[in-house]
Amino acid sequence: MQNYRQNESELKYRSPYMSAPPKSPVSQAGGSAPQQQATRYCQFCGKQIAADAVLCIHCGRQVQQLQQTPPTVVIQNQNYSQNTQPPYQYQPYAPGKNKWVALLLCFFLGVLGAHKFYEGKMLLGVVYLFTLGIFGIGVLIDLIILLFKPNPYYV
Ligand SMILES: [Zn+2]
Repeated sequence: MQNYRQNESELKYRSPYMSAPPKSPVSQAGGSAPQQQATRYCQFCGKQIAADAVLCIHCGRQVQQLQQTPPTVVIQNQNYSQNTQPPYQYQPYAPGKNKWVALLLCFFLGVLGAHKFYEGKMLLGVVYLFTLGIFGIGVLIDLIILLFKPNPYYV
């Protein structure tokens, strides 16, 4: 076990902002500790020294770096995004629909959902196909809506 010599005169350079190290089991089990002082062991000679001692009094070697201001860590974040544009909203895959093509499809083949298929709305087109353009009402509404669409229009 380590040499436990509590009464050695130790370096008194107490640093106010240095916390005590975790308690060593030796100082706990020793029992004869008149003064509770934070201690540690020299990394060179293994003897007990003050926790914040800069020099070991036993072997005279420097056991700790002198207190310095902590180095300023400059974080250079190079990872800034180049994407300044908002997500593209319009025309995800289609360049826009021709209003007149859709109107003609709706007028002649609306009950078959042709204008819905033209707009890429396959599911709705199937519904039109099996309900004859929602019994003609859907086709009629679509015709009116299409009349007021710009050309080209986007679905
Ligand atoms: Zn030492």
